[in-house]
Amino acid sequence: MPARILDGKALARSLHLELKAQAQVLRAGGVVPTLAVVDASGDPAALQYLERKRDRAQALGIDVRVFAFNPAMQQEGLLQLIIQLNTDPSVHGIILEQPVAPQFKAHSLLAAISPNKDVDGTSPASQGLLALGTPRFVSATALAAITLLEHHRIPVAGREAVVIGRSTVVGRPAAFLLLQRDATVTICHSKTRDLAEHTRHADILIAAAGRAGLVRGAMIKPGSTVVDVGTNFVSGRTVGDVAFAEAAEVAGAISPVPGGVGPVTTALLLQNVLRAAADDARTTSVRQ
Ligand code: NAP
Repeated sequence: MPARILDGKALARSLHLELKAQAQVLRAGGVVPTLAVVDASGDPAALQYLERKRDRAQALGIDVRVFAFNPAMQQEGLLQLIIQLNTDPSVHGIILEQPVAPQFKAHSLLAAISPNKDVDGTSPASQGLLALGTPRFVSATALAAITLLEHHRIPVAGREAVVIGRSTVVGRPAAFLLLQRDATVTICHSKTRDLAEHTRHADILIAAAGRAGLVRGAMIKPGSTVVDVGTNFVSGRTVGDVAFAEAAEVAGAISPVPGGVGPVTTALLLQNVLRAAADDARTTSVRQ
């Protein structure tokens, strides 16, 4: 029987309604929720993606200030910009577009982002809190993968979960979120000796390698759940890491690409911005 489709678009639409209502409440109280996006990547594709994110945010009542890539900017200048955004009371969330261009050192830039404004959970402080099981802000992509599971009522506790990918942006945070929900978690990566040996035992498989067609139907446990985070551009099309047609014949449930994790990611990032704005408004009113 073909797999159930874990539709991210429908979930994102319902999240947008909630976010719009939350933004309205904040604005009525004089707070304009604002996200600052620092583009240190210099990648034209990143800029296009950013513009789409900005349009979506603005439609929901969230302002987005984009700090465009400046090829003359060096590490110190970018650090100063982040420090200034940390102390700017009109900015509630900061994200640094990655991967950063070669003149920058990502680690110290991410470490400079205030944990209170680190809405994509990329700073060492946010990652540490997640690893300890007490997360504050978590990578929106990793959270989107888990939110898809929860929304579609896929049980996680006690299940064998395999995550392909160990990046700090997707694989690691996804693995920690699964662990926090009592899954038994295996993390695979490019040096894993026999990937299929691991994936075939997975009740839940999260693919986040960025390799089109890496996961074939024969690598999937029958009836399991497959969440495809991969976003690859092949012959003008966007495809995931999973060979969708054959995987859908074996899995019990599977997320499509596009239309799965992607739309939920943007919605959850904006949800984090609203949370940061609401937390800030509460702290400010307590101080007054
Ligand atoms: P990344 O930093 O390149 O990390 C890729 C990970 O996959 C690494 O840990 C790598 O292992 C592992 N890997 C690569 N080839 C492998 C193989 N053949 N077998 C097993 N593991 C392999 O990428 P990322 O930033 O985590 O992103 C992963 C994917 O998610 C990309 O396609 C990206 O476009 C997508 N993405 C989607 C969203 C969304 O909203 N849908 C958001 C962000 C990213 P090593 O550590 O050993 O190198």
